[in-house]
Amino acid sequence: MKNDLRKLLRWVCRKLTYNDLASVVPVLLEVLNGSRQDIELKPQEVRPPHYRQFRVDPQPPLCEPLLPHAPQKDWEELQADHLRATGKTIAKVARRTGSPMPPEKCRCRHCHAPVRYLYLNNGKLGSQVQCKICKRTSPTDKPRRESKARYWCPHCGYALFRWKEDGLCTAFKCPNDHCPVYVRNLAQLTPEEHAMRKAGNTSQFKLRYLFREYHFASQDLPLKRPEDAPVDLNRIHHSLHTLGLCLTFSISLGLSARLTAQALERVFGIRISHQTVVNYIKAAACQLADFTDENSPVPEGTCAADETYIKSGGQTRYTWLVITETRRAICG
Ligand SMILES: [Zn+2]
Ligand SMILES: [Zn+2]
Repeated sequence: MKNDLRKLLRWVCRKLTYNDLASVVPVLLEVLNGSRQDIELKPQEVRPPHYRQFRVDPQPPLCEPLLPHAPQKDWEELQADHLRATGKTIAKVARRTGSPMPPEKCRCRHCHAPVRYLYLNNGKLGSQVQCKICKRTSPTDKPRRESKARYWCPHCGYALFRWKEDGLCTAFKCPNDHCPVYVRNLAQLTPEEHAMRKAGNTSQFKLRYLFREYHFASQDLPLKRPEDAPVDLNRIHHSLHTLGLCLTFSISLGLSARLTAQALERVFGIRISHQTVVNYIKAAACQLADFTDENSPVPEGTCAADETYIKSGGQTRYTWLVITETRRAICG
């Protein structure tokens, strides 16, 4: 966008003489302060305020499901407490022969008391047991199917479902419609945004708790460093001044190797091949790599990163520039 504006500005300036421009500027100022009703500006694009932005949820997910109740004492501890207080232990359930029994593997879900301390609480239905140790009830249900979930929502405890997966990461989402995060985000949407959601544009708003599991750790990423220098900078055919010009044009001004070679020839009359320019850049990179490794700041505290990509050799390659909040220095 900035580039487009600059192009437009250059084009406009090419059409105007100095005097033309001098008379245009006051008109532009009038447009800017709103006193020219006859000249309309392009309307500003408005984005709904809750438009999906790439923001990481600050809380990591739980790696274990929440216990149904706050953790409490185990049946053996409760038994010991009882013995200390009364001098007696709680007896097993006395069962008449032939009376219905809870399933053998059933345990109290609160104190994990084994089946000998449990009796069926609701007669023939047999779906609930009462515990003699902690006096609380639990479902009789057969040993629960092991959940395949790996993460649980830190706000509501629901198991997160696998929402999206790509080569870089797997995204997990909280499906709970009563999750406090979802309820809060939903309530914050403006009426227009609600209308957009109804129209089927749900993915424009981030409403649910989301967690991305990256398939790599930062320490696994190999650090790419320049390979062997193609030339020895101490024994080049050109002067170090020419080397400096090569680096200025190619690195500081961002010209390609071919353009740098052309510029050196046209501006300074220095004949140099574009391959030599490439060799000088690579050799300078080799010289500087150790220095930058030793002296670039370490990321600390809050960092901001900008991602850009470039197609190279048919593959999309990504570059991130990372700056730290406190030092404002490029650290990665
Ligand atoms: Zn119990
Ligand atoms: Zn949730």
